[in-house]
Amino acid sequence: PFTLSARAQSLKPSATVAVTSRALELRRQGVDVISMSVGEPDFDTPPHIKAAAIQAIESGKTKYTAVNGIPELREAISAKFEWENGLRYAPNAVTVTSGGKQALFNAFFALLNPGDEVLIPAPYWVSYPEMVALTGAVPVPVPTTAESGFQLNPDDLAARITPRTRMIVLNSPGNPTGAVFPPEVLQSIAELAWQRGLTIVSDEMYEHLVYGAQQVSIGTYAPEHTLTINGASKAYAMTGWRIGYAGGPAAVIAAMNAIQSQSTSNASSVSQYAALAALTQHEATARFIEEARRAYQVRRDHIVAGLNALGLTTPTPQGAFYVMADTSRIHPDELEATRRILDEARVAVVPGTDFGAPGQVRLSYALGLETIEEVLRRLGQLLA
Ligand code: PLP
Repeated sequence: PFTLSARAQSLKPSATVAVTSRALELRRQGVDVISMSVGEPDFDTPPHIKAAAIQAIESGKTKYTAVNGIPELREAISAKFEWENGLRYAPNAVTVTSGGKQALFNAFFALLNPGDEVLIPAPYWVSYPEMVALTGAVPVPVPTTAESGFQLNPDDLAARITPRTRMIVLNSPGNPTGAVFPPEVLQSIAELAWQRGLTIVSDEMYEHLVYGAQQVSIGTYAPEHTLTINGASKAYAMTGWRIGYAGGPAAVIAAMNAIQSQSTSNASSVSQYAALAALTQHEATARFIEEARRAYQVRRDHIVAGLNALGLTTPTPQGAFYVMADTSRIHPDELEATRRILDEARVAVVPGTDFGAPGQVRLSYALGLETIEEVLRRLGQLLA
C-alpha cells in the first residue's frame, strides 16, 4: 500500500552507508576496526557549556521557544558575527536551527525553485547536491584539483554560469578537502555574485579550525548577496546538541523561519542555552577552541606526512579535520580501494564517490595521535 514519493526515490543511495554498515558488521564479529570516517570532533563538549544545559533543565527551560530561537541567543549570535566575522546581522536577521544542516535545508527551500542551477565546488560535502536536488533545483559541480590543494578558480565558476544560475554554495574551510579560500578569491567570487545577481550561501562550520591560513567571511565583501551559515557542532564539539544558525538579509531569514515553523518549530531549548554559554563565556570557549585547534594541527601534520610517505598522496589541508588521499596505489576505483582498506587494514574511510572525488578517499583525523599512528602502520602493511 505504500509507494515512496518521487522525492524520496530521487535521493541517491549513499556509498558511505555501505561502508559504514560493513564496518559495523566487522566490529560485531569482533574485528578491531578503526574508524577514520566520522565527521565529528573527538573532544568532549566543554564543561562550562554542559553546566549551562544542566542549569537550563533544572530551571525549567524545557518548553517551546520562539521559532527563530531565544532572544538572548540571537543577540549573542549577532554579536559573534560582528566581532569574529565583521558581519552586521541584527538579531532579527539571525535564526537558530537544529544543526547547521537544517539551516542549509531551510535556506535552499527558501531560495530555490525547480530548474534553478546551483554552483557547488567539488569535492563537496555530500548533502549540498542532495538537498539542492530535493528542492527541484539542479546542482552544478565546479571541479577543483588535488594539485591545486582543491583551490577554487573563480574563472571556473564564471564559466558555468547560465541564465538559470541562482546560487553559489561555498564551504571554506571545506569538508572534505580542508581547503581554505584566500581573501582575494572570495573577493572575486563576491564581485561575480554582484555582477551576475547571484546569491552566495557560505557554510562556515569549520571557521575556527584553520592552521595558519586566513579565514575570511565572504559576507564582508557582498553583504546583500550572502547568507552565512554556522553552528555549534564543530567549533565547540557539540554535534549531538543540534544547534546551527544563519545570518543574512532579514527577508530571507523570515522565509527560513516560516519553513521551520511548519516543520521542526524550534531547536532544542536546552541546547540553545548550552550554545548561549559557548557564545558568551568567551574566555573558557576560546581556551577550548585553541586547545582543539592545536591538537588537530599536530594530527594533520602527522597524517599528511604519513600518507604521502606511503604514496597515498594528499595536499596539506589548511583547515577542518579531513584529508583526501589518492588511493590509486591500492585500487583505481575508490570504492574497491575503500573495501580493501576496510577488509585488509581494518580501517574505515569514506570513498570519494559521494563527494565528487573519484580515485580518492576521505580520512578524518579527529582522533588521538596513537590511533593515527596505528592507521598509518596498518596502511603500510596493506601496501607492503
Ligand atoms: N556543513 C558541513 C560542511 C559539514 O561538514 C556539516 C557536518 O558534517 C554540517 C554542515 C552540518 O553540521 P550540523 O551537525 O551542525 O548539522
